[in-house]
Amino acid sequence: MPKVTFSSENKVKTSNYDYPKLKLEKDEKALLVLLEDPEVEYVHTLRKPKLENGKPVMKTETRKDKSTYETYDLQFLSRPLCKGDFTILQDKGIDPKNCPMCKLAQENSEYTEAPQRRYAMHVIRYRTKGTGYDLINPFSVELLVWSFTDRYFNQLIDFKEEWGDLRKHDIKMECTNKMYQNFDIQVASKAQWLADEDRKKLVKTTLKENKLEDISIAIGQRKEDKWIKEDIEAIREAWSAVKGNAQSDDGWYQEDEDDDELAADLNSVLDSTEDDDADEDSVVESKPKKKDKKKASKKSEEESSEDEEIDFDDLLEDLD
Ligand SMILES: [Zn+2]
Repeated sequence: MPKVTFSSENKVKTSNYDYPKLKLEKDEKALLVLLEDPEVEYVHTLRKPKLENGKPVMKTETRKDKSTYETYDLQFLSRPLCKGDFTILQDKGIDPKNCPMCKLAQENSEYTEAPQRRYAMHVIRYRTKGTGYDLINPFSVELLVWSFTDRYFNQLIDFKEEWGDLRKHDIKMECTNKMYQNFDIQVASKAQWLADEDRKKLVKTTLKENKLEDISIAIGQRKEDKWIKEDIEAIREAWSAVKGNAQSDDGWYQEDEDDDELAADLNSVLDSTEDDDADEDSVVESKPKKKDKKKASKKSEEESSEDEEIDFDDLLEDLD
Protein backbone atom coordinates (compact mmCIF):
# COMPACT_ATOMS: atom_id res chain seq x y z
CA MET A 1 0.00 0.00 0.00
CA PRO A 2 1.51 3.39 -0.94
CA LYS A 3 2.36 5.82 1.83
CA VAL A 4 1.55 9.51 1.78
CA THR A 5 3.18 12.27 3.75
CA PHE A 6 1.46 15.12 5.57
CA SER A 7 2.82 17.66 3.13
CA SER A 8 0.85 20.47 1.62
CA GLU A 9 1.10 19.18 -1.98
CA ASN A 10 -0.82 16.08 -0.90
CA LYS A 11 -3.71 18.03 0.50
CA VAL A 12 -6.97 16.58 -0.77
CA LYS A 13 -8.97 19.00 -2.82
CA THR A 14 -12.44 19.69 -1.56
CA SER A 15 -14.97 17.75 -3.56
CA ASN A 16 -17.07 19.52 -6.15
CA TYR A 17 -20.14 18.71 -4.14
CA ASP A 18 -18.75 19.64 -0.78
CA TYR A 19 -20.15 23.10 -0.20
CA PRO A 20 -23.24 24.32 1.62
CA LYS A 21 -26.13 24.47 -0.80
CA LEU A 22 -29.43 26.23 -0.52
CA LYS A 23 -31.77 23.28 -0.53
CA LEU A 24 -35.18 23.39 1.09
CA GLU A 25 -37.74 20.82 2.13
CA LYS A 26 -41.28 21.16 0.81
CA ASP A 27 -42.99 24.12 2.56
CA GLU A 28 -39.74 25.12 4.27
CA LYS A 29 -39.18 28.85 4.37
CA ALA A 30 -35.93 30.74 4.06
CA LEU A 31 -35.16 34.41 4.65
CA LEU A 32 -32.20 35.42 2.51
CA VAL A 33 -30.30 38.39 1.26
CA LEU A 34 -28.52 38.44 -2.11
CA LEU A 35 -25.32 40.47 -1.94
CA GLU A 36 -23.80 39.75 -5.34
CA ASP A 37 -24.67 39.06 -8.95
CA PRO A 38 -24.77 35.43 -10.05
CA GLU A 39 -22.31 33.68 -12.29
CA VAL A 40 -23.68 32.01 -15.37
CA GLU A 41 -22.47 28.87 -17.13
CA TYR A 42 -23.80 26.38 -19.65
CA VAL A 43 -23.80 22.82 -18.41
CA HIS A 44 -24.32 19.40 -19.96
CA THR A 45 -25.86 16.46 -18.18
CA LEU A 46 -24.39 13.21 -19.47
CA ARG A 47 -26.27 9.96 -19.07
CA LYS A 48 -26.24 6.57 -20.77
CA PRO A 49 -28.76 3.75 -20.97
CA LYS A 50 -28.31 1.10 -18.29
CA LEU A 51 -27.59 -2.33 -19.73
CA GLU A 52 -28.10 -5.70 -18.12
CA ASN A 53 -26.72 -8.77 -19.91
CA GLY A 54 -26.30 -6.55 -22.95
CA LYS A 55 -29.94 -5.47 -22.94
CA PRO A 56 -31.26 -2.06 -21.96
CA VAL A 57 -33.02 -1.77 -18.63
CA MET A 58 -36.46 -0.22 -18.98
CA LYS A 59 -38.44 1.67 -16.40
CA THR A 60 -41.96 3.00 -16.07
CA GLU A 61 -42.40 6.76 -15.83
CA THR A 62 -45.50 8.72 -14.95
CA ARG A 63 -46.57 11.77 -16.94
CA LYS A 64 -48.08 14.84 -15.33
CA ASP A 65 -51.55 13.55 -16.30
CA LYS A 66 -50.74 10.34 -14.33
CA SER A 67 -50.57 8.16 -17.45
CA THR A 68 -47.53 5.89 -17.62
CA TYR A 69 -45.02 4.88 -20.27
CA GLU A 70 -41.91 2.71 -20.64
CA THR A 71 -38.57 4.33 -21.20
CA TYR A 72 -34.87 3.52 -20.99
CA ASP A 73 -33.43 3.64 -17.50
CA LEU A 74 -30.54 6.08 -17.72
CA GLN A 75 -27.45 6.14 -15.57
CA PHE A 76 -26.05 9.53 -14.59
CA LEU A 77 -22.44 9.94 -15.71
CA SER A 78 -21.42 13.52 -15.11
CA ARG A 79 -22.43 17.15 -15.29
CA PRO A 80 -19.60 18.98 -17.05
CA LEU A 81 -19.53 22.66 -17.91
CA CYS A 82 -19.96 23.22 -21.64
CA LYS A 83 -16.76 23.93 -23.55
CA GLY A 84 -18.56 26.20 -25.99
CA ASP A 85 -18.01 29.90 -26.59
CA PHE A 86 -20.28 31.89 -24.29
CA THR A 87 -21.38 34.37 -26.97
CA ILE A 88 -22.28 31.57 -29.38
CA LEU A 89 -24.13 29.75 -26.62
CA GLN A 90 -26.10 32.87 -25.67
CA ASP A 91 -27.03 33.32 -29.30
CA LYS A 92 -27.67 29.75 -30.47
CA GLY A 93 -27.94 27.66 -27.30
CA ILE A 94 -25.40 25.18 -28.68
CA ASP A 95 -21.80 25.34 -29.94
CA PRO A 96 -20.84 22.12 -31.76
CA LYS A 97 -17.65 23.68 -33.15
CA ASN A 98 -16.04 24.22 -29.77
CA CYS A 99 -17.69 21.65 -27.54
CA PRO A 100 -17.68 17.88 -28.14
CA MET A 101 -20.80 17.46 -25.99
CA CYS A 102 -22.71 20.04 -28.05
CA LYS A 103 -21.52 18.15 -31.12
CA LEU A 104 -22.90 14.93 -29.66
CA ALA A 105 -26.24 16.62 -28.92
CA GLN A 106 -26.43 17.96 -32.46
CA GLU A 107 -25.66 14.55 -33.91
CA ASN A 108 -28.35 12.78 -31.90
CA SER A 109 -30.52 14.37 -29.24
CA GLU A 110 -31.01 10.94 -27.67
CA TYR A 111 -27.33 10.86 -26.72
CA THR A 112 -27.45 14.13 -24.83
CA GLU A 113 -29.21 17.46 -24.94
CA ALA A 114 -28.04 20.95 -25.74
CA PRO A 115 -26.45 22.53 -22.65
CA GLN A 116 -28.61 24.18 -20.05
CA ARG A 117 -27.94 27.68 -18.84
CA ARG A 118 -27.59 27.81 -15.07
CA TYR A 119 -26.64 30.41 -12.52
CA ALA A 120 -24.96 30.23 -9.13
CA MET A 121 -24.49 32.78 -6.40
CA HIS A 122 -23.66 33.06 -2.73
CA VAL A 123 -26.60 33.93 -0.54
CA ILE A 124 -26.81 34.84 3.11
CA ARG A 125 -29.50 32.92 4.93
CA TYR A 126 -30.73 34.33 8.22
CA ARG A 127 -31.36 31.82 10.98
CA THR A 128 -35.05 31.99 11.76
CA LYS A 129 -37.40 30.61 14.39
CA GLY A 130 -39.29 27.40 13.60
CA THR A 131 -41.06 27.53 10.28
CA GLY A 132 -41.46 31.28 9.87
CA TYR A 133 -39.42 34.32 8.91
CA ASP A 134 -38.80 35.64 12.48
CA LEU A 135 -35.12 35.97 13.28
CA ILE A 136 -33.62 33.98 16.12
CA ASN A 137 -31.86 35.87 18.88
CA PRO A 138 -28.92 36.44 18.82
CA PHE A 139 -28.76 37.39 15.15
CA SER A 140 -27.14 34.61 13.16
CA VAL A 141 -26.52 33.89 9.48
CA GLU A 142 -24.97 31.27 7.20
CA LEU A 143 -23.49 31.46 3.72
CA LEU A 144 -24.99 29.12 1.12
CA VAL A 145 -24.70 28.63 -2.61
CA TRP A 146 -27.86 28.85 -4.65
CA SER A 147 -27.85 27.37 -8.12
CA PHE A 148 -30.83 28.15 -10.35
CA THR A 149 -32.18 28.43 -13.88
CA ASP A 150 -33.42 31.20 -16.18
CA ARG A 151 -36.80 31.20 -14.47
CA TYR A 152 -35.44 32.58 -11.19
CA PHE A 153 -32.86 34.75 -12.91
CA ASN A 154 -35.66 36.52 -14.77
CA GLN A 155 -37.72 36.77 -11.63
CA LEU A 156 -34.83 38.41 -9.79
CA ILE A 157 -34.44 40.91 -12.64
CA ASP A 158 -38.12 41.78 -12.29
CA PHE A 159 -37.67 42.20 -8.54
CA LYS A 160 -34.69 44.47 -9.08
CA GLU A 161 -36.67 46.59 -11.51
CA GLU A 162 -39.48 46.92 -9.03
CA TRP A 163 -37.52 47.26 -5.78
CA GLY A 164 -34.12 48.62 -6.78
CA ASP A 165 -30.97 47.33 -5.11
CA LEU A 166 -31.71 43.83 -3.80
CA ARG A 167 -29.04 44.15 -1.12
CA LYS A 168 -31.45 46.47 0.67
CA HIS A 169 -34.32 43.97 0.58
CA ASP A 170 -34.50 40.50 2.05
CA ILE A 171 -35.91 37.68 -0.03
CA LYS A 172 -38.63 35.46 1.39
CA MET A 173 -38.56 32.04 -0.14
CA GLU A 174 -40.92 29.12 0.32
CA CYS A 175 -40.27 25.75 -1.25
CA THR A 176 -43.16 24.43 -3.34
CA ASN A 177 -41.43 21.35 -4.74
CA LYS A 178 -38.48 19.66 -3.09
CA MET A 179 -37.35 17.53 -6.01
CA TYR A 180 -37.17 20.43 -8.46
CA GLN A 181 -36.29 22.97 -5.77
CA ASN A 182 -39.07 25.28 -6.88
CA PHE A 183 -39.86 28.31 -4.75
CA ASP A 184 -42.38 31.04 -4.25
CA ILE A 185 -40.31 34.17 -3.82
CA GLN A 186 -41.28 37.51 -2.36
CA VAL A 187 -39.32 40.65 -1.60
CA ALA A 188 -39.34 42.19 1.87
CA SER A 189 -39.48 45.94 2.37
CA LYS A 190 -36.28 45.94 4.43
CA ALA A 191 -33.02 44.03 4.80
CA GLN A 192 -32.47 42.72 8.32
CA TRP A 193 -28.70 42.72 7.95
CA LEU A 194 -28.65 46.51 7.60
CA ALA A 195 -30.45 47.08 10.92
CA ASP A 196 -27.30 47.76 12.94
CA GLU A 197 -23.50 47.75 12.79
CA ASP A 198 -23.06 44.37 14.49
CA ARG A 199 -25.29 42.67 11.95
CA LYS A 200 -23.50 44.31 9.05
CA LYS A 201 -20.17 43.20 10.44
CA LEU A 202 -21.32 39.60 10.94
CA VAL A 203 -22.73 39.35 7.42
CA LYS A 204 -19.59 40.87 5.88
CA THR A 205 -17.33 38.46 7.78
CA THR A 206 -19.51 35.45 6.96
CA LEU A 207 -19.43 36.32 3.28
CA LYS A 208 -15.74 37.07 3.19
CA GLU A 209 -14.59 34.00 5.12
CA ASN A 210 -16.79 31.39 3.44
CA LYS A 211 -16.98 32.32 -0.23
CA LEU A 212 -16.14 29.61 -2.74
CA GLU A 213 -13.20 30.51 -4.92
CA ASP A 214 -14.84 29.11 -8.03
CA ILE A 215 -18.59 29.16 -7.64
CA SER A 216 -19.09 27.55 -11.05
CA ILE A 217 -18.52 24.18 -9.35
CA ALA A 218 -22.07 24.66 -8.07
CA ILE A 219 -23.18 24.52 -11.71
CA GLY A 220 -20.99 21.80 -13.18
CA GLN A 221 -17.58 20.18 -13.23
CA ARG A 222 -14.63 21.65 -15.08
CA LYS A 223 -13.74 18.40 -16.77
CA GLU A 224 -10.61 17.78 -18.78
CA ASP A 225 -11.13 16.89 -22.43
CA LYS A 226 -9.94 13.32 -21.95
CA TRP A 227 -12.61 12.63 -19.31
CA ILE A 228 -15.28 14.20 -21.46
CA LYS A 229 -14.12 12.02 -24.33
CA GLU A 230 -14.38 8.97 -22.10
CA ASP A 231 -17.97 9.79 -21.16
CA ILE A 232 -18.91 10.44 -24.78
CA GLU A 233 -17.48 7.07 -25.79
CA ALA A 234 -19.41 5.37 -22.99
CA ILE A 235 -22.63 7.03 -24.21
CA ARG A 236 -22.01 5.98 -27.81
CA GLU A 237 -21.20 2.42 -26.79
CA ALA A 238 -24.30 2.06 -24.62
CA TRP A 239 -26.58 3.47 -27.31
CA SER A 240 -25.09 1.30 -30.01
CA ALA A 241 -25.75 -1.72 -27.77
CA VAL A 242 -29.34 -0.48 -27.40
CA LYS A 243 -29.73 -0.01 -31.15
CA GLY A 244 -28.06 -3.36 -31.82
CA ASN A 245 -30.65 -5.00 -29.61
CA ALA A 246 -33.41 -3.08 -31.29
CA GLN A 247 -32.46 -4.60 -34.65
CA SER A 248 -31.84 -8.15 -33.52
CA ASP A 249 -34.62 -8.62 -31.04
CA ASP A 250 -37.94 -6.88 -31.35
CA GLY A 251 -39.45 -8.62 -28.35
CA TRP A 252 -38.92 -5.63 -26.12
CA TYR A 253 -38.65 -2.83 -28.63
CA GLN A 254 -40.03 -2.19 -32.08
CA GLU A 255 -38.81 0.26 -34.64
CA ASP A 256 -41.96 2.08 -35.59
CA GLU A 257 -43.50 5.51 -35.52
CA ASP A 258 -43.58 5.46 -31.72
CA ASP A 259 -39.86 6.04 -31.91
CA ASP A 260 -40.19 9.82 -31.94
CA GLU A 261 -42.63 9.75 -29.09
CA LEU A 262 -40.26 7.62 -27.07
CA ALA A 263 -37.43 10.06 -27.69
CA ALA A 264 -39.63 12.95 -26.66
CA ASP A 265 -40.66 11.17 -23.49
CA LEU A 266 -37.08 10.42 -22.74
CA ASN A 267 -36.13 14.05 -23.07
CA SER A 268 -38.95 15.12 -20.85
CA VAL A 269 -37.87 12.93 -17.98
CA LEU A 270 -34.13 13.36 -18.28
CA ASP A 271 -33.77 15.91 -15.57
CA SER A 272 -36.21 14.35 -13.19
CA THR A 273 -33.92 11.39 -12.54
CA GLU A 274 -30.71 10.92 -10.58
CA ASP A 275 -29.40 14.41 -10.12
CA ASP A 276 -30.64 16.20 -7.08
CA ASP A 277 -30.65 19.76 -8.28
CA ALA A 278 -32.94 19.14 -11.16
CA ASP A 279 -35.28 21.96 -11.86
CA GLU A 280 -38.63 21.90 -13.54
CA ASP A 281 -37.37 24.46 -16.03
CA SER A 282 -35.03 21.96 -17.52
CA VAL A 283 -37.96 19.73 -18.32
CA VAL A 284 -40.00 22.48 -19.86
CA GLU A 285 -37.37 24.28 -21.85
CA SER A 286 -33.92 23.15 -22.79
CA LYS A 287 -33.02 26.05 -25.03
CA PRO A 288 -32.68 29.64 -23.89
CA LYS A 289 -35.15 32.12 -25.25
CA LYS A 290 -34.19 35.36 -26.94
CA LYS A 291 -36.12 37.26 -24.32
CA ASP A 292 -33.65 36.17 -21.66
CA LYS A 293 -30.73 37.51 -23.57
CA LYS A 294 -32.40 40.87 -23.84
CA LYS A 295 -33.06 40.84 -20.13
CA ALA A 296 -29.48 39.90 -19.40
CA SER A 297 -28.19 42.92 -21.27
CA LYS A 298 -30.74 45.13 -19.63
CA LYS A 299 -29.37 43.89 -16.36
CA SER A 300 -25.81 44.85 -17.09
CA GLU A 301 -26.93 48.35 -18.02
CA GLU A 302 -28.58 48.62 -14.66
CA GLU A 303 -25.49 47.50 -12.88
CA SER A 304 -23.47 50.33 -14.28
CA SER A 305 -25.70 52.97 -12.75
CA GLU A 306 -24.74 53.41 -9.14
CA ASP A 307 -27.43 55.00 -7.10
CA GLU A 308 -26.73 53.70 -3.61
CA GLU A 309 -26.63 55.82 -0.54
CA ILE A 310 -24.80 52.90 1.00
CA ASP A 311 -21.34 52.19 -0.34
CA PHE A 312 -21.59 48.40 -0.56
CA ASP A 313 -18.17 47.85 -2.06
CA ASP A 314 -16.65 49.63 0.86
CA LEU A 315 -18.96 47.86 3.25
CA LEU A 316 -18.32 44.39 1.90
CA GLU A 317 -14.68 44.51 0.99
CA ASP A 318 -12.34 46.01 3.53
CA LEU A 319 -13.09 44.38 6.79
CA ASP A 320 -10.41 43.54 9.30
ZN1 LIG B 1 -21.43 22.14 -25.03
